[in-house]
Amino acid sequence: MKEKTAAKLEDLTTLSKKELIKKARKFSDKYCVGDGKKFRLKDYDSKPKLNLGPEDKPLVKQTLQLGVAALATMQDVLYAQDKWSLLVIFQAMDAAGKDGAIKHVMSGVNPQGCQVSSFKAPSSEDLDHDFLWRCQKHLPERGRIGIFNRSYYEEVLVVRVHKQILKTQKLPEKLITDDIWENRFKDIRNFEKYLTRNGVRVIKIFLNVSKDEQKKRFIERVDDPDKNWKFSSADARERGYWDDYMSAYEEMIQNTSTEDSPWYVVPADNKSYARIAVASAIIDALAGMKLEYPKVSEEKIAELNEIKKALLAE
Ligand code: ATP
Ligand code: MG
Repeated sequence: MKEKTAAKLEDLTTLSKKELIKKARKFSDKYCVGDGKKFRLKDYDSKPKLNLGPEDKPLVKQTLQLGVAALATMQDVLYAQDKWSLLVIFQAMDAAGKDGAIKHVMSGVNPQGCQVSSFKAPSSEDLDHDFLWRCQKHLPERGRIGIFNRSYYEEVLVVRVHKQILKTQKLPEKLITDDIWENRFKDIRNFEKYLTRNGVRVIKIFLNVSKDEQKKRFIERVDDPDKNWKFSSADARERGYWDDYMSAYEEMIQNTSTEDSPWYVVPADNKSYARIAVASAIIDALAGMKLEYPKVSEEKIAELNEIKKALLAE
């Protein structure tokens, strides 16, 4: 939500792990939409209400490191417990920082327990199926964190902004009706409810970048030869539909943010701040699972002690 007063970034180094998790949960709460009915994008900032100057860099870095470390220890328990899984969906305009957020926030996590899937324009095989099909194949196994870099939400974003795409989806014509978007929202809500009931927690992150900041980042991508590969004329073209995208995002969040599977609308004009907010949202989701290492039986402990004794006697 819009924050009224300028907050200061706190030094969290002295906190216990439990306190840190509590802080992260409270912090992520600011950006968590929950029930989307009253959601308005204009109520959410793209800039953090925080004057982060160059002098704050070490503190920002340290805060993110603490978050990443907390997340990594929680993921270890998620993996050991092997019951829940977490799906984190990222959606955003180009250059909002999805790739960087995924890279930095997941940097401490055991790669065995995490899988990133990117969804670009669908292939002809994808189009021979229902729109959830290609994403369903990449859902995280129990004990794992799955990251979707774009997702089935493109079906109510890019496809809605460019309605002609619908015609390429091989749908029977009579199914392309005026309530197709409403129906897709309903299908997505049901799908996420189904996943929740099966132990897959789904959270969704919208990196809320401003049009001005996108312009700045696009120019950087042209000026910096190492960033040229990241930029295409298609990205610049999509920028021309900014307002249509913002309306589509707003309606998408209104219709698909639920208590169980909330959207987090994260201010993304400052990359470091956005990464801290993303790490906090993931910590929040994992903390809500009440994770614990599997309990070992008395017999098993006795057996382990016997093995230890034998090893020491070698
Ligand atoms: P990066 O630019 O960092 O490589 P990206 O996710 O922007 O990552 P691109 O290949 O540039 O990757 O863009 C993918 C494009 O595919 C986006 O414009 C997106 O809107 C589009 N896309 C994704 N899903 C669908 C879909 N279901 N139907 C049509 N277009 C889609
Ligand atoms: Mg792109």
